[in-house]
Amino acid sequence: LGRHKNDDRPTYFEYNGVRFGQDTLNVFAGLCAVDTIEHVEMMMKSLREHGQVCTRMGAYKPRTSPYSFQGHGKTCLPYVFDIAGKYGIKVIAMEITHESHLEEIRNALYQTGNATGVMLQIGTRNTQNFELLKIVGRQQNFPVLIKRGFGITLDESLNAAEYLASEGNRKVIFGLRGMKTNMGDPHRNFVDFSHVPVVRRLTRMPVCIDPSHSVGTRASSPDGILEIMHVTAQGIIAGANMVLVDFHPAPSNALVDGPQALLIKELPQFLEDIQIAREAY
Ligand code: PEP
Repeated sequence: LGRHKNDDRPTYFEYNGVRFGQDTLNVFAGLCAVDTIEHVEMMMKSLREHGQVCTRMGAYKPRTSPYSFQGHGKTCLPYVFDIAGKYGIKVIAMEITHESHLEEIRNALYQTGNATGVMLQIGTRNTQNFELLKIVGRQQNFPVLIKRGFGITLDESLNAAEYLASEGNRKVIFGLRGMKTNMGDPHRNFVDFSHVPVVRRLTRMPVCIDPSHSVGTRASSPDGILEIMHVTAQGIIAGANMVLVDFHPAPSNALVDGPQALLIKELPQFLEDIQIAREAY
């Protein structure tokens, strides 16, 4: 995935009719964790109304506490894929945490008529789960979003992405989602979107930003603008190619990460701000 002299391999790929590259911008707004069928439907309906063909949906959730909701797992996949097909969603970013999830996703896609496609997500806690990376690297039918490890060097995270490619999967997107520090940050993680151009310079991967997990709150700056929107614009102006962002119809009822979810009614403004930032890039 790294750039080498005289190496003109492409910086883009296509999946299920959607192009991903260092020259495109794809928005994946959706539910951090699937909770109810109704919420999945509300989310996807709104995405369709605003011309979106990608989303994020969490079925397998890696949680800090074993007593927190762990995601509905394979039981939600049939209705998630069905509803996605109904609303013309072509690609769903979905984290997997274990190799058995691949089979579950493949079966559910098949049973629902392959109405949609899945981009496998490797979360920040699994960035250096090398055995999982090797297995996912062999799944050449699926693109992969690999998140930067939140407590390791950029170089170590880029090497983790290389594990996917070394097993044959070059449909890889690199995700920035903020770094852990011990400096009492006002945000959940220290936003690292200044590294967007660095990853684009060092590699041929499209670069994703995740403003939700970086900022982690719905706090607004004194100008009344959500800080999540501020950093999204910063990432896009820096050249980001994908935005992964949490929405929820009723954040106070969300089972995972409600405090950072945007409201569905905020989707049009969010998309409009992204367009303005993209034009400024
Ligand atoms: C997520 O995107 O739902 C998630 C858990 O992200 P991260 O791995 O960046 O914490």
